[in-house]
Amino acid sequence: MIDLKQLTIKKLADMYRSKEATVSDVVDAYLAEIEKKNPELNAYLEIYDDVKAQAEEAQKRIDAGESGELIGIPVAVKDNILIKGKRVGSASKILENYVGSYDAFVIEKLKKEGVVFLGRTNMDEFAMGGSTENSAYGVTKNPHDVARVAGGSSGGSAVAVGGDLALAALGSDTGGSIRQPASFCNAVGLKPTYGSVSRSGLMAMGSSLDVIGPIAKTVTDTELLFTAIKGKDSLDSTSHDGAWSEKRESKKVIGVPRDFTNIEGIDPDVKENFEQSLEKMKSLGYEIRDVSMPTMPLSLAVYYILMPAEVSSNLSRFDGVKYGLHVDGKDLIEDYFKTRGEGFGKEARRRILVGTYVLSSGYYDAYYRKAVMVRNKIKKEFEAVFKEVDAIALPTSPTPAFNIGEKSDPLSLYLADIFTVSANIAGVPGISLPAGFVEREGKELPVGFQLLGSHNREDILFACGKDFLGE
Ligand code: GLN
Repeated sequence: MIDLKQLTIKKLADMYRSKEATVSDVVDAYLAEIEKKNPELNAYLEIYDDVKAQAEEAQKRIDAGESGELIGIPVAVKDNILIKGKRVGSASKILENYVGSYDAFVIEKLKKEGVVFLGRTNMDEFAMGGSTENSAYGVTKNPHDVARVAGGSSGGSAVAVGGDLALAALGSDTGGSIRQPASFCNAVGLKPTYGSVSRSGLMAMGSSLDVIGPIAKTVTDTELLFTAIKGKDSLDSTSHDGAWSEKRESKKVIGVPRDFTNIEGIDPDVKENFEQSLEKMKSLGYEIRDVSMPTMPLSLAVYYILMPAEVSSNLSRFDGVKYGLHVDGKDLIEDYFKTRGEGFGKEARRRILVGTYVLSSGYYDAYYRKAVMVRNKIKKEFEAVFKEVDAIALPTSPTPAFNIGEKSDPLSLYLADIFTVSANIAGVPGISLPAGFVEREGKELPVGFQLLGSHNREDILFACGKDFLGE
């Protein structure tokens, strides 16, 4: 029997080499677990029909003596990342029956590494949300308490990892969608530096904010996956090879923006957990230093102007002609209205409306242009602080996983993104680390500790993360 709970990528790679397990054994164990748990958790929307064949291919490479640590590693993929020939739909009705016509850059890379793709995971429609309640295919439930949300928008991917339905997963993060669900499901989630991972083959939400990243059980595993998927791609002009702006060694200083972490709305025990995480870092030899980032709290307002603006533009391609769903009206204009009206869920329509509004000629200056100006200020604030600290610590989320249906008011859900969006606004990397549990209604719920780094300094986040987590 393979103990999936204890398994990591590192361990499994060793097991394959010492012939303790075959790829098929491991894949079968995951498929059995998925069959048992997925009907309730709804982490996967689909298990691919060629998983066993992929496992056999990977086994051949291991038997031939290939050394890559990702060969035969079972990975789940968020439903907004294209795999050639496989259904993909951003959990939206408008893309029902849509099949990917090419491999995303990250998929191409992972195929070369020999990864086994188990299936595609549930998410908020077009990655818009923080609870996976906005999926057209039902909510994903939290394995720690099935009355609660998985987080989102990469909720299915986080549950796959946290619930032992995959060894690792890919998600996407526009304003926290990797880090927040990872924190709700006791996993490690990395939002890489903007552009360090190509967006080719990722369905666009907010193009200046989106990035693909890994969710895994340990920092070491997260690093392995990040190393495999990063790099410049000619199909994404914003991608780069991640050169450091300055070669500065880590001095083990962590900054805490106190005016921000002391805000109202954060649960007292989550705050307490955050302070304990800082204490832990201190005991590991880190200096904890208060830093001033007065513009940072505006990140949320800036995000909820820039993101919908980009959403409204990106989703205009779904017109009932080029992709997926088509609903007939009496003329072309009515085709558009009907297709988009029926195909998009409520939240997608809401954001398209807000985005169109902030970009409209009468309001562009008041909203969009102002938000861009504040964004630049926030970026500068990060740059200044990273001259004196290696990482900035924040809670990942102000609360643990909340009850399904609890945040039906969209604004209350938006507020929950308070600690994650600034990394996307500034384009810097962020990692959420499992940091223990708080109790709610008799259940132990995971809490995340978040560290943000300077552009392209994922290496520092990994070093701090390994110190914090021990692996
Ligand atoms: N929760 C945020 C939102 O709803 C973040 C989404 C994301 O990162 N894709 O916009």
